[in-house]
Amino acid sequence: MAKEVTPTRMEKIVSLCKRRGFIFQASEIYGGLNGFWDYGPLGVELKKNLKDFWWQRNVRERDDMEGMDGSIIMNRAVWKASGHEETFSDPMVDCLLSKERFRADQVEEQTGIVHRLIGAIPRIAIVDLPQLPPEAWIRWLFPTALGSVSNVAELSELLHAGIRNQNQTCDEEVLLAAAEKIFPQIERYDFSVLVPTGTPEDKARKVGMAFYESRGVKNPVLIEHEVSHLPVENSRGYHAETGAQLTEPRTFNLMFKSFAGPIESEENMVYLRPETAQAMFVQFRNILDTTRQKLPFGIAQIGKAFRNEINPRNFTFRSREFEQMEIEYFCRPEDGLRLTDYWLEQRLRFYDDIGIPRGKIHIHEIPDGERAFYAVKTYDLEYDFPFGLSELEGIAYRTNYDLSKHIEHSGKPLDYFDEATKERFVPHVVEPSAGTDRTALALICEAFDEETLTDEAGKSDVRTVLRFHPRMAPIKCGVFPLLKNKPDLVAAAREVASNLRAFMNIFYDESGAIGRRYRRQDEAGTPFCVTVDFDTIGENGPEKQGTVTLRHRDSMQQERIAISDLREWLLARIR
Ligand code: ATP
Repeated sequence: MAKEVTPTRMEKIVSLCKRRGFIFQASEIYGGLNGFWDYGPLGVELKKNLKDFWWQRNVRERDDMEGMDGSIIMNRAVWKASGHEETFSDPMVDCLLSKERFRADQVEEQTGIVHRLIGAIPRIAIVDLPQLPPEAWIRWLFPTALGSVSNVAELSELLHAGIRNQNQTCDEEVLLAAAEKIFPQIERYDFSVLVPTGTPEDKARKVGMAFYESRGVKNPVLIEHEVSHLPVENSRGYHAETGAQLTEPRTFNLMFKSFAGPIESEENMVYLRPETAQAMFVQFRNILDTTRQKLPFGIAQIGKAFRNEINPRNFTFRSREFEQMEIEYFCRPEDGLRLTDYWLEQRLRFYDDIGIPRGKIHIHEIPDGERAFYAVKTYDLEYDFPFGLSELEGIAYRTNYDLSKHIEHSGKPLDYFDEATKERFVPHVVEPSAGTDRTALALICEAFDEETLTDEAGKSDVRTVLRFHPRMAPIKCGVFPLLKNKPDLVAAAREVASNLRAFMNIFYDESGAIGRRYRRQDEAGTPFCVTVDFDTIGENGPEKQGTVTLRHRDSMQQERIAISDLREWLLARIR
């Protein structure tokens, strides 16, 4: 089904998530907290299905993988060794006008004319000038002349020139007094505005005035730079909406800080982990010794990570608290490149198995010069979200950088002795690192569909349906009695539901018309619903007794199935 790529689609998804209890704004009743989200009853099931399936595929179904669950707060030395304390920062730029902060590499490129200003003066200062009407003074003093004035005497001279230029005269003392009054009111501060090609030039004046007003200049008259109009191409130096100038990039550390223990001292300072990976490097020796694994083998972990992102945005896509599903797959140096491609294939298969087909994942190989300096090969797996192609997962061949750093800082032997070759070396590692929340969001975006249905009378309406893969669906099966006021139907339906509950998440619903109940489950993404009717309880003869109507979410087709077959039938489709 064609899916239009517009913000409206995203807005609909966000509103469905709230309406149906997938995702809520965290601390909503207090106005929320930017970058934090709560998963509601359906959201938590979706995320749990995702994490369980990831664990099943990557840990339980493999004998070369071990799981672990590390603590969120670790010794600060870990982050010193990993380089996070020093370098886990993003270059940020601030908008001089709105004070908003952006990641420098995420600012939209713009082409147009840059209008350069060097300052402003409150209009009232000019209104007070002698001899000439204010507009004449403004024409004379601005745009450029005032910029070169560096003291009162020069300003007084400039005023003279203005008067002479109009063939008038004025007493020198009057002009000097005027200059003395005006001079301190000149606000000198360089500021420029980019007016994109095709946008009216007046925008520059409006934005300029807003900027100097924000610096306390009332009703500002703008002073232009000598070279006031400069054409630029693909510049990232200006705010995409207003065109206001951005600051030069500055770095900003993304780790949240706290204190372990009652004293808020430098020694007690700790960080909330910004990734789960480090615990797997730090526990490499313990896991190797306790499991007796041989290379290649991996450690897998799912857990929370925290980053004080400057611009949390795109719903849960960029949050400040999120979950990661990470693997560190250790190997011999000569196997690193091959295993990176191996993991790429494994991970694509995984996405396919949860309902995000291969064709929907864009593989971006990070070119030389853009990778982390220790990484030899990196793939970003990107999904086409309604807000654009964005990273779901990174797969990086990180050489032996991490273990070597921990050996260097801890002095502990995190190397490996190969029994077969009698070699001792520091293993290399391939790291597939996926975001749980981003994948959950991709699942919702991929599943979201609006289908126009036309009934026999020609009346059409729109059915909202989440076409989750049954594996991921929060509710696997809805169970309904046809009518809620028939105790036999209710009792039979409750029994069907309770017999399934031990095996899967079931939703029992007896309220409202049956069609409405189906639609509610369509919106929740429930792949199957069963209805207990009069046939089930044998009221229409023995033939269909013990069978229920099974309704398919995607096709809306209905079929009859024996209650005794139901469990196996469902299990075969949701596992
Ligand atoms: P980005 O470039 O989008 O900030 P990243 O390359 O810094 O991401 P990694 O450090 O490679 O991300 O983290 C691995 C994965 O963790 C990402 O692919 C993503 O799925 C998830 N992730 C990272 N930051 C966030 C965040 N702020 N919110 C949600 N998920 C995140």
